[in-house]
Amino acid sequence: MRAAFRHAALDALAVLAPTTCSGCGAEDRALCAACRAAVAPNAVAVWDVAGSAGRGPLRVHCALDYDGIARRVLVALKEAGRTDAADGLAPALLTAVDAAVRGARVSGSVPPAVARERVELAIVPSTRSAFRRRGYHPVRLVLACAGLRPAHVLMAARQTADQSSLGVTERSVNRAGSLVARPATRGRLFVIVDDILTTGATLGEARRALEAAGGIVLGAAVIARTRRRLPGGIQVR
Ligand SMILES: [Zn+2]
Repeated sequence: MRAAFRHAALDALAVLAPTTCSGCGAEDRALCAACRAAVAPNAVAVWDVAGSAGRGPLRVHCALDYDGIARRVLVALKEAGRTDAADGLAPALLTAVDAAVRGARVSGSVPPAVARERVELAIVPSTRSAFRRRGYHPVRLVLACAGLRPAHVLMAARQTADQSSLGVTERSVNRAGSLVARPATRGRLFVIVDDILTTGATLGEARRALEAAGGIVLGAAVIARTRRRLPGGIQVR
């Protein structure tokens, strides 16, 4: 009922201020029905991404492939100021987060039922220039649409270059040591949440920072993954 009302309200808004679908460009609301269906989560792919020195692999849960409509919607959200696209991506991210929390792999004796309630979501802060350009944090926005609030634990230790033009090695060098976790992180359980899995460099750095502060990283969840081969990554399912 609430959803129906909300959609009616959005339709009314679309009449006042016609907009285009962020997936296909058709004149519609933020996301037309066909594109909304295209970014609905299907099977969650699970990747084990190789960890850096002395760390085991990080298990990453990915809801969508980063191509076609999903790619266009994500680009619209991240690069074209289409904050209205966040809502359509929320089911995908929620599914990946859910899978990551359920599939949490904790060494030691934390039973899954207890772990689930204690698991917090850690997001990677935007670089200063990205935040200035966008005026919002894309992942935080999608999480909010999914009714989830991330923990405020990771901060930039230094500013990094934009990753998009960098290769695998450059990305990990660019990211290394770029994040730091707040001191109150010790003993808390985290799933790291990000938008796109490319080489795993960002997730790896987030994990390093959380673990360096005594946090326990159970896995990661992303909206989409690129087709690029992950260095040391193994698809589990
Ligand atoms: Zn569309």
